[in-house]
Order: sequence, then C-alpha cells, then structure tokens
Amino acid sequence: MNRRNFISSTGLATAGWLSTVNSGKPTRALSKQGQVDGAGSGYDLMREVARYRKLDAHCHVNLFDGPPESNIDFADRLHIDKMVVSRPIFDGKGTPADFIRYNDLVLQAMKKYPTHFLGQFTVNPLYQKESLEEIDRRAGQGMVGLKVYTQVKISDPLFYPIVEKMIKYKMITHMHSNCQLGLGGYRMKYDTGVRPQTSIPEDFVAIATRYPEALFQYAHIGGGGDWEYACKMLAGCKNVYVDTSGSNNSGHMVDFAVQQLGIHRVFYGTDNCYYQSIGKILASNLSDEQRKMVFFDNYKNMLLKSGNHVN
Ligand SMILES: [Zn+2]
Repeated sequence: MNRRNFISSTGLATAGWLSTVNSGKPTRALSKQGQVDGAGSGYDLMREVARYRKLDAHCHVNLFDGPPESNIDFADRLHIDKMVVSRPIFDGKGTPADFIRYNDLVLQAMKKYPTHFLGQFTVNPLYQKESLEEIDRRAGQGMVGLKVYTQVKISDPLFYPIVEKMIKYKMITHMHSNCQLGLGGYRMKYDTGVRPQTSIPEDFVAIATRYPEALFQYAHIGGGGDWEYACKMLAGCKNVYVDTSGSNNSGHMVDFAVQQLGIHRVFYGTDNCYYQSIGKILASNLSDEQRKMVFFDNYKNMLLKSGNHVN
C-alpha cells in the first residue's frame, strides 16, 4: 500500500474509532472480521493492532472506567498485555486516609489480575511523613512507581525527600502535566479550571536538573496541552520520559516526540483513552521496530532499572 492510501485508510480508522471512545464495545466502526467498515483497502486494522505487544504506561483503575473488569475488557479486545495502573488523588483533600484507600484499591486490582496489572502508588507531599512511609509500604508490596497529581508542583521542595526516596528504589515518578500556550506565547493564568499547583514543562526541567539520577514521566502529551512546546522543553532532560496518552490525536505528535526526545524516551500510554492511543501510534511514520519500542520495550527497559521484569 502506498503512503497516501495508508493515510486515508488510517484516517478512516481514526474517524471510526473516535465514535466509540470510552463508550463500551466498538459496535459500529469494526466489523466482526476486524475490518474497518468502508476502508475498502484490505488494510486489516485489528490484525495490525494485534501484531504489537503493548505495555500501557498510563492507565487508571477505579476512576474513569469503574471497576478493574472494565480495564480488562479493553485490554483483552485491544491486545494490551500489561497496564500500569494507578488511582491518583483526582479530587478531594487527599489526606493520608484518602491516598491509602486509593492505593489499597490498586493493590486489590493487582492481586486479582496479576498478569494484566502493574500498580503505581500515589501520595500527597503536603503530608510528608505519611507519604514517605506509604512509598516504603507500597514498594514492599510490589508496586512499581509513583503517580502524582496536582496537589503540589513536581519542582516544589516538598517533593525533594519523595524524589530522593524514589531514587533509592530506582522507580519512576509519573506526574500529571499541563502546558497551555496560546498566540504569542500566552501563558495560562490558571483561569481555565487548571489547578494552581499543576506542573508545567518548566517544573519538570527544574526537578530533573536537580536530580539527574531520578526518573520522571511527563504525563499525556495527547492530553490537550501544547505538546510541541513540552517536547522541546524536555528534549535536553535525559531522565524525563513522556507518554503519548490522552484523547487528542494531533497529526505528527508521536513522530515529533520521537524526533525531539529520541526513540527510547517515548512511552505508549492510554490514560484510559484506549482506541485513539493505539491509533495515533499506528498512524505515525515510525518504523516497525520503533513502534515495538514505544508500545512495549521502552517501558519494559525502564522497569528493569528497579529489578521489575515483565515478560
Ligand atoms: Zn491519567
């Protein structure tokens, strides 16, 4: 298939997939044989989906999809081998009682589906002592990394002891991010519903520079922010990875991330936006070998640093 035909068929695929985002089983876009209705080119989308092993670097349980069985349902249909799951402090105060409860939910999911889930714990650095204790407890229970949200900026000194503990475990700190830039470099004034302590690319640069031995994951470049700006800002920080999750499918986003950061620092992730997160990688210009790295090998190799082996 030439490139033009390929793009027009994957374009159709994306359009079809968008109609089924997070709405349960794909009933319209895909026929029983896995062919995209109307594509008409012989491009077998589901065969292509099945060809790649997948390790989802950004997924949540007991949050957007309800109980873990919903995640498993998507994983089975889309050939997602492993999901790195967390339950961050999405709302509320995020007291120690809250984050311990969320981490318990993740642990339960891991125990119930050990072949599917790798768990990340969450903490709130405003509760310093309890957060540090929680990291030790959860690392001891087999969790593989930290997921944090908008309670405290990643560059805040409150994070220093937490990052130092994560260095000890050689585990990644996966932080929610936002990067809202507009015409003429307009910088968001936190007047658009974005919480004031949300981490922006500059915050990642600051903490990654202070702790070059730490590992960071800049969440969801497909989450609606200015991914070009984010990738350019992070290009020089070798210890910052990005995941491609999110519901936005801007053309060339995956290619641009790889071009700026190098192939080893880009993870496939969904943030529970399952269809488009696979589609944007299939629609990229990456080679077969590069796709395998983004879909699976890069995160697998990162996990090896902490002695966590994924088969
Ligand atoms: Zn998320």
